[in-house]
Amino acid sequence: MSNPLLEVANNHNALPKFAAIKPTHIEPAIEQVINDAKSTVDKVLDTKQFTWQGFVEPLQRADERIQKVWAPVSHLNSVMSEPELRNAHDACLALLSEYATYVGQHQGLFAGYQALANGDEYSTLNRSQQKLINDTLRDFKLSGVDLPENEKKRYAEITSRLSELSSQFSNNLLDATHAWHYHITDETLLSGLPDSAIEAAKEAAQEAEKEGWLFTLDIPSYLPVMLYADNVEFRKAMYQAFVTRASDVGPNAGEYDNSDVMNETLALRHELANLLGFDNYAEMSLATKMAESPNQVLSFLNDLAERSLGQAKADYQAIENFAKAQSVQTLDAWDVPYYSEQLKQSEYAISDEQLKPYFPEHKVVDGLFSVVNRLFGIHIKEHKEIDTYHPTVRFYEITDANGETRGFFYMDLYARAGKRGGAWMADFVGRNRDSKGELQYPVAFLTCNFSKPVGDKPALFTHDEVLTLFHEFGHGLHHMLTQVDTGGVSGIDGVEWDAVELPSQFLENWCWEPEALADISGHYETGEPLPQNLLDNMLAARNFQSAMQMVRQLEFSLFDMKLHYEFDAAQGADIAGVLQRVREHVAVRIPPEYNRFQHSFGHIFAGGYAAGYYSYKWAEVLSADAFAKFEENGIFDRATGREFLHAILERGGSQPAAELFSEFRGREPDINALLRHSGIAN
Ligand code: ZN
Repeated sequence: MSNPLLEVANNHNALPKFAAIKPTHIEPAIEQVINDAKSTVDKVLDTKQFTWQGFVEPLQRADERIQKVWAPVSHLNSVMSEPELRNAHDACLALLSEYATYVGQHQGLFAGYQALANGDEYSTLNRSQQKLINDTLRDFKLSGVDLPENEKKRYAEITSRLSELSSQFSNNLLDATHAWHYHITDETLLSGLPDSAIEAAKEAAQEAEKEGWLFTLDIPSYLPVMLYADNVEFRKAMYQAFVTRASDVGPNAGEYDNSDVMNETLALRHELANLLGFDNYAEMSLATKMAESPNQVLSFLNDLAERSLGQAKADYQAIENFAKAQSVQTLDAWDVPYYSEQLKQSEYAISDEQLKPYFPEHKVVDGLFSVVNRLFGIHIKEHKEIDTYHPTVRFYEITDANGETRGFFYMDLYARAGKRGGAWMADFVGRNRDSKGELQYPVAFLTCNFSKPVGDKPALFTHDEVLTLFHEFGHGLHHMLTQVDTGGVSGIDGVEWDAVELPSQFLENWCWEPEALADISGHYETGEPLPQNLLDNMLAARNFQSAMQMVRQLEFSLFDMKLHYEFDAAQGADIAGVLQRVREHVAVRIPPEYNRFQHSFGHIFAGGYAAGYYSYKWAEVLSADAFAKFEENGIFDRATGREFLHAILERGGSQPAAELFSEFRGREPDINALLRHSGIAN
């Protein structure tokens, strides 16, 4: 019986055969490619040829086959989820993690890479190949490969316990979020809410077989209440439930409490870092990042705080003054977003609904393609003959200024049942050229969740959605335009975590430039350009309360870094203490004592951002400073566009991001562009 997943894995440059993939194909295919990969490991170790061609290439090819089976499965599970597919997908997770541990702790493989790094061939390899070898050796060490047996055992215990704790943290948070709701039968309480929020609350009530309206702690239900509900008791109840989720206080006190999970997580991370020879987990986290030390990160964050705090306080003062003018003497925590939003409306009078008719899908997508054509000389062409996994998903090829193929992507824009929320770029394969000269082109999946077209009307995007599309496309270009021939350090692979958002945040800038907006907007019925007053208001509102938002991000980042850096094994974690001290330093107002924000900070307790939350701001410095060069030379300056293409987009993870950035900018990164773009006076 033929298995379409395996057929694709065995064929160079074959695209996934989505229509033919059945849930029953998944587990056998994964088992097959993992077993084959293990045989490859045995084979290369038997032959003892520790050369690029004899050792690295066969291992790369084996891993690539796993990737080519798994990537379409994982993608389908995110965008076309159904129970059988999910079961087949989930059944493979343990197999894949077992394989990752098998490789990560494989003494023989580690010795092989060491032999290669110390052998004669190493100096003849190109820079990308050397980088791959060094990255691999580093990752072996971070997997505990050269620890003594008893410590290796402890390493395995800790990592497995940490992954349990991480999933407990998110389960508690999820359960706590769903364990509480606010039920309304009195219509007057709805005053101020937009129709869409009222509609959704009515549906939620109907689903729960209740009268009236039901509000929950999910963001789409919670946020409109905080921004628009006129009734103060309603906002207060929602706020108090939201900020005490999964904690020892609040309406569900103690029931889904993450306190112990957080304490144990921090203690185990510290122990793990110590096992591997680091002083603390912050240092371990930075071992794979662009930032050099926790102190460098802390001074970066403190510097930004110092420059933003004055203006952030003024932002806050403006809300207080606005509320006072309406006879509200003291602002409570649940009043701040509400009066903020009113202040914004009174100053800028701009709404999504007014802008949407000017951002129809075809204008935005064609405009995006034209912007990147002007910047990088690339052409994008749709291939309608390619089988995608859904009729609304389109497939494109990118060619460069010389007409050479660079890569391919699937674009999946609309929300639908069975599709995970949010927007992201994922890769099917990365670019690689083997020593026989065979080239594999990079292929990407670009996924968004915009509203689909209704009737004859095209899909109309909000400006935020336009930003999202540009953002994800920036990631996509980083992956697809690469000219690096070594898999593992080509495209987005091998790029430091705190530099990954450089191309994505960079491309967003064009959505704020009148010259580019002329390309990406036009009324869906009349084709008229965006009216000047709407454009002016939109641009003016861009930096509304930006200093306040800046210090909020700095509060999260400083809390995360200090929590991991200052951990003292003898004392245990001082989570509330660290947070309190950070707030006293950078917050414009201290939340109520019962606020347990930390108990829902999933980024650092259940995501990949532990001692890494600063990455958002770090990469934003790079993207803003890179864009500033276009501001200096012209936002569509060809030469600058080509420089960015050659220095950043084409080079992927083949060199440290700091080197690539310096090559493009001719100097080290400077934070002034970020401050200027954020409207923060210097
Ligand atoms: Zn991103």
